[in-house]
Amino acid sequence: MQSSETYDVIVVGGGHAGCEAASASARTGSKTALVTHRFDTIGIMSCNPAIGGLGKGHLVREIDALDGLMGRAADLAGIQFRLLNRNKGPAVRGPRTQADRELYRISIQNVLRDQAHLTIIEGEVDDLLLADGSVAGAKLVDGRSFSCGAIVLTTGTFLRGMIHIGEKKIPAGRITEGPALGLSKTLERFDFRLGRLKTGTPARLDTRTIDWASLEMQEADDKPYFFSLMTEKLESRQIACGITRTTPVTHDIIRANLLKSAMYSGSIEGVGPRYCPSIEDKIVKFGDRDGHQIFLEPEGLDDISVYPNGVSTSLPEVVQQQIFTSLPGLENVVMLRPGYAIEYDHVDPRELDKTLESKRISGLFLAGQINGTTGYEEAAAQGLWAGLNAARKASCLDAAYLSRTEAYIGVMLDDLTSNGVTEPYRMFTSRAEYRLSLRADNADVRLTPLGEKLGLIAAPRLEKFAKLSSLVTQARELTRSLSITPNDAQKRGLSLNQDGVRRSAYDILAYPQMSIKRLTEVWPELMDIDEKTSDSIEIEAQYSVYLDRQHASAMIMRKEEERIIPELLDFSQVSGLSNELKQKLTMRKPRSIAEAQKIDGMTPAGIALILLELRRYASFDVRGAA
Ligand code: FAD
Repeated sequence: MQSSETYDVIVVGGGHAGCEAASASARTGSKTALVTHRFDTIGIMSCNPAIGGLGKGHLVREIDALDGLMGRAADLAGIQFRLLNRNKGPAVRGPRTQADRELYRISIQNVLRDQAHLTIIEGEVDDLLLADGSVAGAKLVDGRSFSCGAIVLTTGTFLRGMIHIGEKKIPAGRITEGPALGLSKTLERFDFRLGRLKTGTPARLDTRTIDWASLEMQEADDKPYFFSLMTEKLESRQIACGITRTTPVTHDIIRANLLKSAMYSGSIEGVGPRYCPSIEDKIVKFGDRDGHQIFLEPEGLDDISVYPNGVSTSLPEVVQQQIFTSLPGLENVVMLRPGYAIEYDHVDPRELDKTLESKRISGLFLAGQINGTTGYEEAAAQGLWAGLNAARKASCLDAAYLSRTEAYIGVMLDDLTSNGVTEPYRMFTSRAEYRLSLRADNADVRLTPLGEKLGLIAAPRLEKFAKLSSLVTQARELTRSLSITPNDAQKRGLSLNQDGVRRSAYDILAYPQMSIKRLTEVWPELMDIDEKTSDSIEIEAQYSVYLDRQHASAMIMRKEEERIIPELLDFSQVSGLSNELKQKLTMRKPRSIAEAQKIDGMTPAGIALILLELRRYASFDVRGAA
């Protein structure tokens, strides 16, 4: 078949993964095409009108540090910024904002429209074109075809998507959008292991029919915590959202209609997200609770639609209406559209290596919900990394890797490709063993220099980053240069350990409740440090002891990754390893721990066992012997 145009990279799907993939690939200078059903659905939020949250907020900050789109769009569209876990340590604080859907969508579309090296093509990809086992192009349903060096598939919930509302089943990728069938067949033809997952979304409610005055309201934070280094000021008016609760009547309605729910009648086989259960699940599992909280989140500043957060369901429409009218404040509510559950095909992410390239077809990358994840942030972060690597593949450059010690994105890539998924995967801070150093506040410091090397970062960010870094360095040097004895400190109202040891202002900042503002009473010259820089130095100083320890442990891990595995090592003798891993290791014969880590199904525990075996055979360590 003749190809009408040739690209370095083709990205299939304009969801959160696809937008970041297309942007990342084009930012490196690769000629990129984004093929998606409709331009006007690019950047749409299929479910909740919010970005960020615990763990997810870290991903958005990292996407931003690599000059991705999500953080800037969320800041522009943010209508209720809240820093979750504000009272806990900075490592587990989660920036979140409710977003105006329209502003978010338009903002993403505008950036992509103006992106150099990027062409947007409306259409549906039906099949992949291959040459010698490698990706060579994409064929569209309408007969067009395009050649390329690499493809990123980001088809979300569209692969054989099936919507369920009670007993109604509608083949669809999202409400009112058809499913994608051809690509599922293509993936099956190449023997990809496919699974079935499901997710759900609640009904949307008419704001004019809610009794807002009777509800408890939750306001935005006074001081917004932005996602992007590039954001200077609040762009949108901030709003409050309402809170209501399920009642015993609600619980009775749900119990009485349980068998009408697609999930409970057995018509859905896909596994759903445990931590984001449907309202049916909540009542069956925790129905004896007094009431389940439901947040009523307006979907935009000029939007009549309200998202009832916490009521996703696959019950029939009429039962959904009964549920809402049983909730305080919603007695007269009108539903704009019903909630639904959706089942879709996903690919076992163990089919991929840590760059998200498939092991079966060279040059084919997969990112987003197709890999068994859920959430905009998880999708976007994978998209960015897959788009970058697809561009590097097409230009014959070495693959780029991110380790668990460097970023939440690295944690996710490792989790997915090593362990696969048994339910939709979402990010939590608890997944990151190096979370003290992988904080939302230091994402720029961790990743922007790497992004610069990889060609991802545009000049304005580099300039701003350099300026802020230099302010932090100056502040660090200043606070380290000022010191005081415990005696003198006491005279100035500061209580330090009376051990006679002179301490620097930097060390004193590690004390509880200490701040630069407080220290200006002792050292007025600290007044020159601006608020943002103060925040950075205070957090850095508080964490410095732990960070030193964590840094040392991360260095050990990186060193271990470089360890050479002697050719003679008999993997079948490594006690504790599963037979499956023993066979794979014997077959693949990895020459280093880093190579062993890339083996499908390899776990941190498996690596620990191999390291133990290496220590037992220390004399075989050719690196040490050399
Ligand atoms: P999507 O955003 O789904 O985008 C896929 C894109 O690919 C679309 O633009 C589509 O047009 C395009 N496309 C598909 N096939 C083709 C093709 N063959 N050719 C060309 N273009 C194609 N996340 C949560 O965190 N919490 C939730 O509660 C939640 N609930 C959800 C409920 C529903 C009903 C849905 C649909 C999603 C829900 N999600 C939820 C998930 C969230 O929407 C997704 O994780 C996220 O949007 C995935 O991003 P993505 O880029 O992988 O795919």
